[in-house]
Amino acid sequence: MSTKRIVIIGGGFGGVKCAQTLRGQLRSQDAELVLFNKENHLVFSPLLADAVGSSLSLDDVIVPLRQLLPGVQCRTEEVKNVDLAGNRLEFESHDGQPRQLDYDHVVLACGNISNLNVVPGMADHAYPLKTVGDAAVLRTHILSQMEKAEVCDEPEKRRWYLSFIVVGGGYSGVETAGEINDLVRSSLRFYSNIREDDVTVTLIHSRDQLLPEISPQLREFARVKMEKAGVSMRLNARVMLATGEGVGLKDGFVRGGTIVCTIGSTIAPVVDRLDTPKEKGRILTDPDMRLRGRTNAWAIGDCANILNAHDGQPSPPTGQFAERQGRQCADNIVRVLGDGATRPFSFKVLGQLCSIGGHSAVAEMFGFKLSGFLAWFTWRGVYLFKLPSWSRRVQVGFDWAWLLIFPRDLSCIKTDVTERITHAHYEPGDCIIRQGEPPSGFYVIETGDVEIVRTSPEKPEGEVIATLGAGNFFGEQALLSNRPRGASVRARTPVEVVVMGRNVFTTISKSLAPLRAALTAAITRRSAASWQERPAVLAALREFKLADFIEPAPTPLLKPTDTLYEVTYQFARHPSDFFFVSPDGVRLVGLITLTDLLRAQSNGMKPETPLAEFMKPDPAVLAVTDSALIAASAFREHGFKTLPVVADTTSRRIVGVVRVRKLIARVLEVVPPPTGLSVPPVA
Ligand SMILES: Cc1cc2nc3c(=O)[nH]c(=O)nc-3n(C[C@H](O)[C@H](O)[C@H](O)COP(=O)(O)OP(=O)(O)OC[C@H]3O[C@@H](n4cnc5c(N)ncnc54)[C@H](O)[C@@H]3O)c2cc1C
Repeated sequence: MSTKRIVIIGGGFGGVKCAQTLRGQLRSQDAELVLFNKENHLVFSPLLADAVGSSLSLDDVIVPLRQLLPGVQCRTEEVKNVDLAGNRLEFESHDGQPRQLDYDHVVLACGNISNLNVVPGMADHAYPLKTVGDAAVLRTHILSQMEKAEVCDEPEKRRWYLSFIVVGGGYSGVETAGEINDLVRSSLRFYSNIREDDVTVTLIHSRDQLLPEISPQLREFARVKMEKAGVSMRLNARVMLATGEGVGLKDGFVRGGTIVCTIGSTIAPVVDRLDTPKEKGRILTDPDMRLRGRTNAWAIGDCANILNAHDGQPSPPTGQFAERQGRQCADNIVRVLGDGATRPFSFKVLGQLCSIGGHSAVAEMFGFKLSGFLAWFTWRGVYLFKLPSWSRRVQVGFDWAWLLIFPRDLSCIKTDVTERITHAHYEPGDCIIRQGEPPSGFYVIETGDVEIVRTSPEKPEGEVIATLGAGNFFGEQALLSNRPRGASVRARTPVEVVVMGRNVFTTISKSLAPLRAALTAAITRRSAASWQERPAVLAALREFKLADFIEPAPTPLLKPTDTLYEVTYQFARHPSDFFFVSPDGVRLVGLITLTDLLRAQSNGMKPETPLAEFMKPDPAVLAVTDSALIAASAFREHGFKTLPVVADTTSRRIVGVVRVRKLIARVLEVVPPPTGLSVPPVA
């Protein structure tokens, strides 16, 4: 048989088991296996609560996919679309560009994503627990709340810092509440200012019993045991809203400095965009896990709605089911490749396990019910052997054993990175940013000129569409829209730039009103300057020669050493409202306008002040070789009425001046008026 390409989207429990099973059954010359996952690791979600409570380190709950899946091409990229009819998928590649890949079979195993919008205010004030990043942020937050409480002198505020609310009484809510309670209470001996009764952990659940999946006897055991350990239960309580102070219930308000939300999920965007029947967002499949009406597209795990042939019920969204579906889906694909008949998904649940904190758990396995320490020991043993690699098993086993003897780690890792503002130097011709690159920085030009170069279907070799000089900035559009760079920026002269990283840029642009205003103006100006809406104007500007618009430079040329008094005389004697400044009568070093002169006078500058102190140094210029299109873009960018023209941007030898008025007049001559308008008669 020819080599088939099987693509799996999602490296969670379902996707990984599917890839492992396929690799075990198909030789590499028969099947190329490709697995896409947004992260480079599998998250072992049943242990996320342990990472929050410092029972495990964050590294222990993830396993690198490429070490887990030898013989499978692991691609850390996000799939954006699946074209089921065309057997092709589109993904966002490393450079932010969309790319495509054909497949023979595709398996959708994308899980689901947290959706905090289920309750007003939750998205703003609550912590989700779905990814290892969520666990890291929540753990850091809990520990920093404890640090704040320790140094807080107001008893009321201290208690608020130490009140933790967990919303949702399913497995993840119960485990998280138990772990937070254990972490905080078992660590109190290291905090001299915090008393036991300052701490509250509240578990809020909308039903009358926790853990609906297990037997009533075990649920009751879990509730009583957790309450004894210090967790307050609010059952039959529905959260109506969340604020920065706590959560609102139908019958009151629960105050808390930390809200953890374990309810609410929504479908992954790629599933949302998929053209296939779904129920409540989950992909409806045939009994063998193929998408309805498809022969080579499969769905497994939390993103799929699969009927379990064992009991005729839809499969619940659990890791146990996802894993088993991954294995059986792989078996079915192998059968299809060998022209065999597929089998319906069928699975008898092995058992239920839930840790409730305080070295206690509840478990139902093979018909046996367990609770307390024995159940906890079983829970740990089962999860240890469920971990997908031996190195992780040894590591996790060691961490658990360590905690039986030593206290939990209370170091609070701040994830903020050092903010960077750097200076960079570029030589003429150097590329500062490239079209299509993902955005990373914001640039302010200190000295020198740059040119904006854009490639397009009409100009695949690239076209200079604008120039920018000292004081201008670039890079803001891609950063703000989070899209790949829309054009390249190249140095025309030696250039010095200040580079701000994304975080610094976001912080400054949010808080500094003048920069925000300048950015908004630049974005409007630059998107208007794309000329896309006036193709006739663009064509005309491309045709015009800049040389046809150049006029002689205004005389006299001023020197940087001329005084304010002398400069005032020149403006009074000559009709021009600007002059060039040159130390040797050749090289342009500055520009002075009537506005600059008036500003210098009103700022109280003395008559003997040299021109160098109030002129515009190194002004934006055009080179004689520039196109009229660049000139037009420069007028729009700088808002000037005139621009100096120099022989080249390195020597800056003065050639003359171009006036925007002349350029406009020429455009009006050749471009017909917009539809519905006519040329006004000469007065
Ligand atoms: C805190 C917590 C505790 C839990 N405890 C238990 C438990 O005790 N027992 C149990 O059985 N279950 C538990 N679960 C549920 C269990 O984790 C899920 O049912 C299981 O992970 C589903 O597996 P999956 O393969 O369908 O999806 P997931 O494991 O969610 O994996 C999906 C993967 O697909 C990736 N992905 C999504 N879209 C794309 C895309 N477009 N391109 C590339 N990659 C993409 C995601 O990044 C993710 O890595 C828990 C879940 C949580 C959050």
